[in-house]
Amino acid sequence: MRVELPLPTRIPIDGRFEIDDTCIDCKLCNDLAPDNFDADLDNDVHYVCKQPGTPDELERVLDAFESCPTESIRYSAAPSGE
Ligand code: SF4
Repeated sequence: MRVELPLPTRIPIDGRFEIDDTCIDCKLCNDLAPDNFDADLDNDVHYVCKQPGTPDELERVLDAFESCPTESIRYSAAPSGE
C-alpha cells in the first residue's frame, strides 16, 4: 500500500510522484513540466517519465501537482526495493 507523504521542499526527494487512473489527459502537467511528464499515447493518459532531480524541476512538478484539475498527481513513499 502506498503511503502519501508531505510534498517535498528540496532535492533529493524521498518519495516518488505518480499519476493515478483519474487522469483525463488534459496535458497541463506536460505543459508545466515537460521534462517530467509525458503522454502515454496508447492509453490516453499522462505519466511521470522522470522524477524531479533539480530544484527547478521540483518547482515545475509541484506547480503541476497543484494545477492538475483532477488531483491525479500523487506523491508517496517509494515501495521498498525501488
Ligand atoms: S494535469 Fe492531471 S489530468 Fe491533466 S494530464 Fe496531467 S495528470 Fe492528467
